[in-house]
Amino acid sequence: MNWKTILVVGGGIGGLSAAIALRRQGFEVDIIERDPDWSVYGVGITQQMNVIRAMNQIGVLDDYLSMASGFDSTTIFVGPEGIEKAKFETPKLAGPNYPSNAGIRRPHLQKVLGDKAVSLGANLRLGLTVAALNDDGTGVDVTFSDGSAARYGAVVGADGVSSQTREAIFPNAPKPRYTGQWVWRYNLPRPADLDGMKVFAGACNAGLVPMTDELMYIFLVTEEPGGMILQQQGSAKAMQTRASQAPPPQLVPWIARIQDDAEVVARPLQVVYLQDQDWHKGRVVLLGDAVHATTPHLAQGAGMAIEDAVVLAQEMACSDQPEIAFKSYRDRRLQRVDHITLNSIRIGEAQMGKGAPINVETLNAQTIELMCQPL
Ligand SMILES: Cc1cc2nc3c(=O)[nH]c(=O)nc-3n(C[C@H](O)[C@H](O)[C@H](O)COP(=O)(O)OP(=O)(O)OC[C@H]3O[C@@H](n4cnc5c(N)ncnc54)[C@H](O)[C@@H]3O)c2cc1C
Repeated sequence: MNWKTILVVGGGIGGLSAAIALRRQGFEVDIIERDPDWSVYGVGITQQMNVIRAMNQIGVLDDYLSMASGFDSTTIFVGPEGIEKAKFETPKLAGPNYPSNAGIRRPHLQKVLGDKAVSLGANLRLGLTVAALNDDGTGVDVTFSDGSAARYGAVVGADGVSSQTREAIFPNAPKPRYTGQWVWRYNLPRPADLDGMKVFAGACNAGLVPMTDELMYIFLVTEEPGGMILQQQGSAKAMQTRASQAPPPQLVPWIARIQDDAEVVARPLQVVYLQDQDWHKGRVVLLGDAVHATTPHLAQGAGMAIEDAVVLAQEMACSDQPEIAFKSYRDRRLQRVDHITLNSIRIGEAQMGKGAPINVETLNAQTIELMCQPL
């Protein structure tokens, strides 16, 4: 079987990045995406210096930045008074002409990655999933949900935290776990003086992130009971109420502007991590949230998925044996993924008064140092 023909399951951030990186290494790539509308909610995402570098490595940085808003610093404020505690000026890993970090709307990120993958020749099919996988050691026979079938040299499972691919190859792997927190996000007009990300720690765990010249988003992290169901109607009031517990003065005017239920995006945080085992079985390999979904406390989940894609494609390009490539990929990723996945979860637990207290300032400095290391 030609090892150069690859199926990517999942047209999200990791899957599209993998398709781009693999096409650039000369692989034939089919991507299947379960959602026929390929919808993505309109709030923003924070991407840090290592992601800017990875975007450059897969050759999409200029297109990406044309849709994003770059920034070079993150400031941390503490307590109900919103006192400035630390400001991190982060390095520009893609060179002096590019920003260090960026905020971008998720639909814009998907468009940039999707357009690039397709323009490079990846074949994207929507409304399709895998019905059956059969790896016979020399290739993988895939039957799709529409009854069609094809044979591939390898399959990349990039189908997110509830990955069906993970379930198919590792039925005994840990299941996604609710951490006890939700993240609420809402788009707001960007004030002229917002030149970087602002994080507020204390009873109100929140932040402001620039996203376009005109827009920023506010995020809020709250502890909620398991099984909570949030109706869209009344969600603005629900977010406002939670944000109004000891808010720092810098946030008060913004909280008052959370008025439109339709604009609230609130999600429970789920984690799953295949820490002590392979990330592949035979010719089927996992990346992104499918193998290491964490909380957004270090704003690196998507970053890890994109970096996975870069490293996986490099390893696949320099071996004609899938299992060797997949082992090397995991070996190269483990230290960074461990750091981000486990520490993000620890920060959330500390916010809920569980586990050891964390010095977030020190942890942020360590994270920046590690993320600046070459992949
Ligand atoms: C509230 C919140 C805020 C976050 N903020 C940030 C942030 O600021 N910065 C950051 O870096 N990360 C952030 N993250 C994490 C980030 O969203 C994820 O790490 C990232 O989306 C993972 O990408 P992925 O491609 O692995 O999975 P996904 O983005 O979930 O993509 C999976 C894709 O696969 C498709 N799919 C699923 N099942 C199937 C199937 N069986 N067949 C075919 N297709 C399938 C899905 O429809 C989807 O398109 C945040 C996460 C949350 C929950």
